[in-house]
Amino acid sequence: MSKFWSPIVSRLTPYTPGEQPKLSKLVKLNTNENPYGPSPLALAAIAAEAGDSLRLYPDPEADMLKRALAEQNAAHGITSAHVFVGNGSDEVLAHAFQALLQHEEPILFPDISYSFYPTYCGLYQVAHRTVPLAADFSLRVDDYLGVAAGGIIFPNPNAPTGCLLPLAEVERLVAGQPDCVVIVDEAYVDFGGDSAIPLVARYPNLLVVQTLSKSRSLAGLRVGFAIGHPDLITALERVKNSFNSYPLDRMAIAGATAAIKDQAHFDKTRQAVIASRERMVAGLKTLGFEVLPSAANFVFARHPRHDAAKLAASLRGDGIIVRHFSAARIAQFLRITVGTDEACQALLDALQLHLKKLP
Ligand code: PMP
Repeated sequence: MSKFWSPIVSRLTPYTPGEQPKLSKLVKLNTNENPYGPSPLALAAIAAEAGDSLRLYPDPEADMLKRALAEQNAAHGITSAHVFVGNGSDEVLAHAFQALLQHEEPILFPDISYSFYPTYCGLYQVAHRTVPLAADFSLRVDDYLGVAAGGIIFPNPNAPTGCLLPLAEVERLVAGQPDCVVIVDEAYVDFGGDSAIPLVARYPNLLVVQTLSKSRSLAGLRVGFAIGHPDLITALERVKNSFNSYPLDRMAIAGATAAIKDQAHFDKTRQAVIASRERMVAGLKTLGFEVLPSAANFVFARHPRHDAAKLAASLRGDGIIVRHFSAARIAQFLRITVGTDEACQALLDALQLHLKKLP
């Protein structure tokens, strides 16, 4: 802390990113990366762009990528005017907090959800109120209806629980709060959920945010996007153009466009992750873990007799890293990314040994 810091920065609790260790030998199951790698077509497009053209600024509108996303969703009435792109969905969300969520009433989000939301509230001075999830960690739509709100945001599937709110319930929420923006953060939706994108044409207050970091295995490229009514998109563009008018570099635009078009690679790798998740859930249950129903590329699991922080520390000793959150309500859980089948087996084998050893 220094006297030169602004009051906002002094009061801020920054988001703590998942660890990105420098050692390569680790079994890394802590930040929900996809083990199967990006589309070869995306890699070729990135390589083709990595030449003399880097002298030139990228297209500030990233038109090619917006068109690819619009074409993919054309059946739902989506055009380029419904699409916003940014440097990872974290940046898209940051712009959305500034552009759409600064109103008099507090915004609402679940007590257990993506921990970047309170940080953005601190940074952009957005008042918020957290709404407790039910005992089984499900989101109760009724808790969000009939209350004055400056906006609503929630991940679906939720993070870090992996629990899914069915699309009919998402629609009930969006329809029931027509005067406030509802942002559905669908970072993990491709692993078992139904996207709310088909609702966008009917609800001008709905913004759906997705990322290429998870199901497209491009976390390192930093590309995310939002789909919503053109009026919402214009607000996001206004913030972007007041911040960094070139958020996506030329390689990101080229690679992301190719990745969106490679449906075959997407389907294959997504199915592989889902199949590995089911095997991992079965293995964890055999070891006595309670596992929340997951529609994501991670699982959230607790052991009734073993301390989660100690288990995470023991796994780390074996070179396996998983995520543990210290917040009271979830401190007994481990969040484990679905890796390759070998990585999942290494985790299960290590857990089996530790469960025997630990008191
Ligand atoms: N939303 C949720 C719920 C997430 O878990 C993440 C990943 N940490 C993000 C958004 C951001 O992902 P990215 O910036 O890589 O698109």
